[in-house]
This record gives sequence, structure tokens and C-alpha cells, in this order.
Amino acid sequence: MEKLELKYEGKAKKVYATDEKNYYWVAYKDDATAFNGEKKGQIADKGEVNNQLSALFFTEIEKAGIPTHFVRLLGQRDMLVRKLDMIPLEVVVRNIVAGSLSKRLGVEEGFILSQPVVELYYKDDALGDPMVNESHVAAMGWAKLEIAKEIQVMGLKVNEILRNILAKAGIDLIDFKLEFGIDNGKVILGDEISPDTCRYWDIKTREKLDKDRFRRDLGQVEEAYQEVFRRVKEVLAGQ
Ligand code: ADP
Ligand code: UDP
Repeated sequence: MEKLELKYEGKAKKVYATDEKNYYWVAYKDDATAFNGEKKGQIADKGEVNNQLSALFFTEIEKAGIPTHFVRLLGQRDMLVRKLDMIPLEVVVRNIVAGSLSKRLGVEEGFILSQPVVELYYKDDALGDPMVNESHVAAMGWAKLEIAKEIQVMGLKVNEILRNILAKAGIDLIDFKLEFGIDNGKVILGDEISPDTCRYWDIKTREKLDKDRFRRDLGQVEEAYQEVFRRVKEVLAGQ
């Protein structure tokens, strides 16, 4: 597999063309941003953790019957993925109130939701990723209504899969963000699943083990990323 021209450089990853036209080479970076790019920094070895942890999660999700873009690892911080026609939405699933939901509803972080909540955000940095609903998605032509519904159902299924693995690792899955795309008319889970895109709290100590350590200057950022990776690897190796 050959890495060809850079197609896109985002905040956390670089996406390259390959010698196979339906596949992309994704290189995960150590760069970290928060608050819509206002806060910038680096998290040592984040690229390696996010790449390999995403690979583990995608493999489990795929086994559970949900198609993902992950093909195989290409190195410590690189993976091969199926090229998707991305739907410009972020699908956020929440089990426990934190972050923007806490602010929006005036509910304290840590409030346990009686059922998972799914939200859609339109992916647009200039607009600060506004929250939208499925009728906006269909009316704006970002995706058909059935697809907007399908990605929410898939988000909830992914929630069950991840929650189950993480619980065995002593971690509560608070919330997370997914991105989907289309390949040959089929909806596929893309992008990444990592401490950058999820909130993880230690079940016992309630310690944050995710990007909130960077966002909120809590220290021990690298250590938290490594800890989640170590625990998940251990759980999956023992299955
Ligand atoms: P951002 O664009 O938010 O800064 P990244 O740095 O993570 O994010 O860049 C990765 C980009 O690649 C994102 O725009 C994401 O939507 C896109 N992407 C993820 N998976 C695929 C895929 N399989 N095919 C095409 N694009 C993808
Ligand atoms: N999230 C993400 N990318 C975004 C926005 C949110 O990965 O552009 C993730 C975030 O890490 C958290 C979940 O989605 O796990 C919910 O985020 P929230 O809406 O609370 O926003 P935040 O507090 O991160 O601004």
C-alpha cells in the first residue's frame, strides 16, 4: 500500500490518497485543539493511542454487525480506511450529562440520564458546529431523512457496544461523537473513536480520562490517554 498525495489535513489527522482508489491512508497527529480551534497544543503520543484505540473499537463494532471504514493498521499512528463520502454531521450520544449539555440545560455534570440521548450537529467550524435536528438535515439536503434516522440508531448501537467494553475496563462512557459516510449507497461508520472524541470517567474515582484534561488544564493528559488504551487492550485481550 503506497501513501500518495495529501487530500486533507484536519485538526487531528492527515488523510492521504493511496494507490487503491477506494482507500485512504489516515495519519493521526499529536496536535490537540479545543473550543473550536481557539486552544491549541500537543499531547505526546496521542496519535499512537488514538489510532490503535480506534482500531480496537472499530474491530469490535464491526464484529457486532455495524460496518466501519477501518481496514487495517499501517503503523503505530497510521491506518487504512475505506474512502467515504462523508455526511457533514456529528452524531453525539450521551449517557451522563457533561460539557455543552450541562451548560445548555443548566444541569450539573454527572447527572445520569434515564436513557441515552442522541444529538446531531452540523459540521461547520465557521458556525461552531450548530446543533440541528433530522428535519434540518433532510431539508438542507445534507442527508436523506432515512439516513439521518439510521445514523442515530447506529449511534445508539455503538453506545451499547462501547459501554460494555469500557465497563469491563472500569470506565464509564459519559458521551461521544461519531461521524458517518456513504460507500456504494451504504452507511458506514468513519472517522475515529478515541479520548479526543469521547468522555471517559473512571467508574470508582470519577477521574476524567479524556480530552477534558487538556480542555480544562487538569494535567496528566498523556497518562490518561495511555491508561484508557492500556485498560481496553487488556479487556479485549482477555476475551
Ligand atoms: P477535522 O476535520 O474535524 O479537523 P480531523 O483532523 O480528524 O478532523 O480530519 C479528518 C477528516 O477526515 C474529517 O473531516 C473527517 O470527516 C474525514 N474522514 C474521516 N473518515 C473518513 C473516510 N473514511 N473517508 C473520507 N473522509 C473521512
Ligand atoms: N465532540 C467531538 N468533537 C466535537 C464536539 C464534541 O469529538 O467537535 C465530543 C466531545 O469530546 C464529547 C461529546 O462529543 O465526548 C459531546 O461534546 P459536547 O457537546 O459536550 O461539547 P464540548 O463540551 O466538547 O464542547
